[in-house]
Amino acid sequence: MQIAFIGLGHMGGPMAINLHKAGHGVRAFDLSQDACAQVKAQGLTVAASSEDAVRGAEVVISMLPASAHVEGLYLGRDGQGGLLAHIAKGTLVIDSSTIAAATSQKVAKACEAAGVTFIDAPVSGGVGGAVAGTLTFMVGGSAADLERARPVLEKMGANIFHAGSVGAGQTAKICNNMLLGILMAGTSEAIALGVANGLDPKVLSEIMRRSSGGNWALEKYNPYPGVHEAAPASKGYAGGFGTDLMLKDLGLAQEAATAVRASTPLGGLARALYAAHSLAGHGGEDFSSVIKMVQKKG
Ligand code: NAD
Repeated sequence: MQIAFIGLGHMGGPMAINLHKAGHGVRAFDLSQDACAQVKAQGLTVAASSEDAVRGAEVVISMLPASAHVEGLYLGRDGQGGLLAHIAKGTLVIDSSTIAAATSQKVAKACEAAGVTFIDAPVSGGVGGAVAGTLTFMVGGSAADLERARPVLEKMGANIFHAGSVGAGQTAKICNNMLLGILMAGTSEAIALGVANGLDPKVLSEIMRRSSGGNWALEKYNPYPGVHEAAPASKGYAGGFGTDLMLKDLGLAQEAATAVRASTPLGGLARALYAAHSLAGHGGEDFSSVIKMVQKKG
């Protein structure tokens, strides 16, 4: 299949590489030359622009930071036309970015009017999951459109869930990430408390992992340096999932809560924690660096 892949960052780069390895023809594009160079080194074709990438594509995949980037890409901004005008009728667009459900629905409506099919398919599983091709996809769209996307999604993920109609994948994703943000902050607090009381972080983490406090951070993504060698914490909090991206997702969760008057006190508190952490200069570090807020200095 001929695939255009737009957005080759921490997640999009390895996802595009997996599609190429699976034998699909991938034309990739990112505004960052570094990101383009990284996939080019793996044998992918890099397009000169997003318009050039979608030429001849049967499927277009985007993996961008936030709502404004996705809306700007497909529908245009600042008086500039969007990419949708260059996408052939009948093409399937899969947006895997984590954005507002309302933005997915807006772009989907414009796609429908242009004879293009759109599904939202945000992911969970981190950079490790993107590299290993074991991501979880949460899909919003019709069952038939999901079946059309499935052969492509299967090359990048191990679990594919149908959450509901367009936008439902995004709603599932922000519920998950609100929980993740809370769990990472809580896990950080517990480890910092134990270490301040003289415990070895590895021993404490293993005890909690196998006890009732066990969670994904303790399994795969420990916030304390040196506990998981592959985790961002052991690499100076580089790579991974940025604090500012987590802050964006917690903001989306609060917006969704406000819209239906849902009570999400811990989600709100987590958003405030990550906002303060970002303001303190850690926005570009992996979100597990939130442990620095509660660690004893010196
Ligand atoms: P990233 O910042 O590493 O990558 C985003 C890329 O998009 C950048 O390389 C940027 O140059 C590019 N870009 C922005 N606008 C563009 C445009 N108009 N045309 C082409 N390229 C453009 O972000 P990431 O960590 O890869 O995350 C991408 C999305 O996936 C976000 O919505 C994030 O919330 C979500 N996500 C991230 C993780 C993670 O662990 N990093 C996990 C799950 C979901």
